[in-house]
Amino acid sequence: MSLIVVGSIAFDSVETPAGRADDVLGGSATYFAYAASFFGPVRLVGVVGQDFPPSYRQLLEKRNIDMSGLESVPGRTFRWSGVYEADMNTRTTRSVDLNVFADFDPKLPPAFRDSQFVFLANGSPAVQMKVLDQVTRPRLVVADTMNFYIDNAHAELLQLMKRIDGMVLNDEEAYMLTKASGLVDAGRRVLTMGPKFVVLKKGEHGAMLITPTEIVALPAFPTDRVVDPTGAGDSFAGGMMGYLATQPNFDGPTLRRALAYGTVTASFNVEDFSLNRFEEITRADIDARFKQYQAMLAI
Ligand code: AMP
Repeated sequence: MSLIVVGSIAFDSVETPAGRADDVLGGSATYFAYAASFFGPVRLVGVVGQDFPPSYRQLLEKRNIDMSGLESVPGRTFRWSGVYEADMNTRTTRSVDLNVFADFDPKLPPAFRDSQFVFLANGSPAVQMKVLDQVTRPRLVVADTMNFYIDNAHAELLQLMKRIDGMVLNDEEAYMLTKASGLVDAGRRVLTMGPKFVVLKKGEHGAMLITPTEIVALPAFPTDRVVDPTGAGDSFAGGMMGYLATQPNFDGPTLRRALAYGTVTASFNVEDFSLNRFEEITRADIDARFKQYQAMLAI
């Protein structure tokens, strides 16, 4: 398989009811890549500043993540800061400092151009499209976006949506993008904007897959240790795409299983700050929890 991701690589400062973490490794591409690496190799495209420590790069390299698409340029790395309310479902962004990410002009290493599975993680739609332009014959292109880009890059986002197969959005973003008043309605409206399927994530309430012919709703895996939900969406997408990249087709049952792997992978990520929990687990832990999840759903 060849799975490529482009997105942010960040220093995050996060405050949750369980504690706080300052300037820890985060970013949409980081979480995605680590989550997907439990399933197979990943190619990462991103940009960092000179303040990005070699130890962070090594942490990802150790995971079979090809970092040859990581550019290091003069300036500061992207920084994001957020605070969660008591129920951890509501997050307020305190600050976004795009820094070197603002002028990111991705250039894929030639060896990345044949990537078959493409995930366009949170980043500007213009950058997401530039990556897509450089991939020769992708089999599956899925994109994420967020309120920041729905507000600030609306026209480009609509252009991007015409060029992708699937989209992952959280419920709030889906409402913002479509002005719908129910989640299924929001999903259907997304389908009229280009994608063939959409996954709507609802935090601790699970995720919903909507295609022209099918609606699948899955609960979140009920972990009792929620420390920091940051990156849950990207980890979900990493588990989902990582699994899909090992599969011969994307039929209904395969997509459903991919959604379940995304759910289970994300449930580990929320159990600690940054990538800390992921660093403690292996693919066997994901598979064991997947079995528990299957048993839980045997209704
Ligand atoms: P999630 O919790 O899955 O929505 O992802 C949170 C991650 O997205 C954090 O690690 C942030 O560094 C990153 N992030 C926050 N704002 C942006 C943005 N405007 N563009 C790209 N990535 C962002």
